[in-house]
Amino acid sequence: MGNQYAPSFKAQYEGAYPDKELQRFCEKIVLDMAKASHRPSLPWNFTILNSSEVNAFALPGGTVCITRGLLHQLKNEAAFAGVMGHEVGHVTHKHAAQGMGRSTIFNLILAGAAVGVSQATDSEWAQLGLALGATGGQLYLLTFSRDQETQADRRGVDYSYKVGYDPRELGSVFELFKKLKGGQSQPVWLSTHPLDDDRIEDVAAYVEEKYPQVVRSNGQGLKVNSPEWDRLMANLRSDQKVYEDYDAANRAFAEAVKSGDPARLAPVLKALESCKARLPGHALFTSAVGVALYSMGQPEKAKGYFQKAASQQTDLFEPHLYLCQIAFENGDASAVHREGELAVRIFPANPLPYFIRARTYDGQGSYSEAAQQYEAVVERANDQSEEYRYSVQRLQAFQARGINW
Ligand SMILES: [Zn+2]
Repeated sequence: MGNQYAPSFKAQYEGAYPDKELQRFCEKIVLDMAKASHRPSLPWNFTILNSSEVNAFALPGGTVCITRGLLHQLKNEAAFAGVMGHEVGHVTHKHAAQGMGRSTIFNLILAGAAVGVSQATDSEWAQLGLALGATGGQLYLLTFSRDQETQADRRGVDYSYKVGYDPRELGSVFELFKKLKGGQSQPVWLSTHPLDDDRIEDVAAYVEEKYPQVVRSNGQGLKVNSPEWDRLMANLRSDQKVYEDYDAANRAFAEAVKSGDPARLAPVLKALESCKARLPGHALFTSAVGVALYSMGQPEKAKGYFQKAASQQTDLFEPHLYLCQIAFENGDASAVHREGELAVRIFPANPLPYFIRARTYDGQGSYSEAAQQYEAVVERANDQSEEYRYSVQRLQAFQARGINW
């Protein structure tokens, strides 16, 4: 069940972070712990998501994720192992499955997908609304009970110790969250993981009870950091500075859209171009320049950026959605369907590619095909959205005319 929805979750968080070396290094740690866990044979997989949101989560079925926004702030490699061991623990104890049915999880995804859509109708010149970063986060809000958290914390200790890390470092993650809690942007992880001082003490007490030799020897022979980790994290923290500028540009973009004043987009475009120049291999920046150009009424120029972004990062939804929309505006039906299918594969829960394809079929008089796509929109879209209202209207019209689908 979790794996079925994993692509939509990941698409919400801008897909995989492009540093393949960092991904491989972190993945090995997580998969080693998963193999040492109580459920080694699940189809475990791990992704660093390219989102500034401070979060980590696991989906039932074995999909484990951490965001760039959390990873770059972790104190050391052992802390990474601890927090990922915690997430692996939620899966091995089947916490998400308890009291959470299939439809609840699907609704959570749809609620997240609808965030991008409802912003779509705010302004005509940003009609797609999946403007820069609007797809991000605020989505996976499965909450766990305090008991489940304690259980997962203990697995974080066990699993990180099993693969050779000092398990006491899990405590540093809670210290980090405690520090962030006082800051201006609340880590989303805190909304799903209750945090109190007891928790830090509980972890220390569990280590002392279960692994007294670790405390006695002060972690002798256990790993806390490695030169490889330090090197990869130095790269990440340096890239993170560019992402902070990108986040600021995103906020300025949202403000510009809200104001309805297209002149305010020029400085946003400039800021995004600067991000792209500093990290040319990062597809998010390439795509963002495309979105700004599209919003400034330059779809043909934007197209080149979207094509480039799509080739740089194959799991990024945004460029395919915009290429689909631009093809629709140009009356290029085959490109609409090609890009639409790619977009749907990346982000199956999002209604927008279905909506663009529906109107394309509709315009060609292929009403049965159009109806199937409109139905897919109705299943996915927020019922307050323009896409939903329009799709329902067309389906009723088809029905009245006796069209079958
Ligand atoms: Zn948890």
